Amino acid sequence: MLNFSNLNLIGIKNFPCIKIKLSFKIIFQATISGVIAWFFKNNYKDILCWFWKMKELEDLILTYKDFPKKGIDFKDVLGIIQEPEVFKKLILKMSSSTIIKNCETIISIDARGFIFGSAISLQASKPMVVARKPGKLPGDIIKQNYNLEYGESSLSIQKSVLGKYDSFAVVDDLLATGGTVNCVSNLLKNNGKEVSGLITVVELTKLKGRSKFKFPVESVITFWNIKNYFLK
Ligand code: AMP
Repeated sequence: MLNFSNLNLIGIKNFPCIKIKLSFKIIFQATISGVIAWFFKNNYKDILCWFWKMKELEDLILTYKDFPKKGIDFKDVLGIIQEPEVFKKLILKMSSSTIIKNCETIISIDARGFIFGSAISLQASKPMVVARKPGKLPGDIIKQNYNLEYGESSLSIQKSVLGKYDSFAVVDDLLATGGTVNCVSNLLKNNGKEVSGLITVVELTKLKGRSKFKFPVESVITFWNIKNYFLK
């Protein structure tokens, strides 16, 4: 504890407001340190486990430089499904997100979105519909064009889906510029429906895709500027 008699040596005893400020600062710092130490002591296994799990997942996402065209660092998530235990933990985590818990329907995006979307749909007991690339869906469809980080495409959904559901949580493997999800959002909005949220496995934060959206966005692994810089 602070010994006020020592403070007199430097003349602080004569300034009561400095004394009070100093003792508040020391009590505040001691309390914060105590809370952090207590929290770490009780949760260090969970904290280490969390870092380990993230690392375990991140190690399965390989980066292919200049694929499918020069300047693109392609993040390949397919390694995750070769490790069922990691895949299971990822699906449990994504399924327990409030975006999924509160959604009416999942809409997953062609094609890697289907892998994660259908597993989440099963785990969370939520219906799933699909947004597909050109020429893949039978029956009456509605279509919207969009720009990708590496090209141009269009997405379609079956008209019959619109009669059944009003609100959709989007599931995809990766969020980059946000153009793909924006396309799905516009497709639904133009037909009187809405996107309630977006959840992805990976997010490339430097491309600021999430800033395009008003609905909640979650991602499990984010690749930051610095990391992308070092990978280049
Ligand atoms: P975007 O519309 O720019 O947010 O791009 C997201 C969609 O394109 C997702 O469906 C991804 O599968 C794919 N994609 C875009 N950029 C990448 C990348 N760097 N690595 C892997 N997939 C990507």
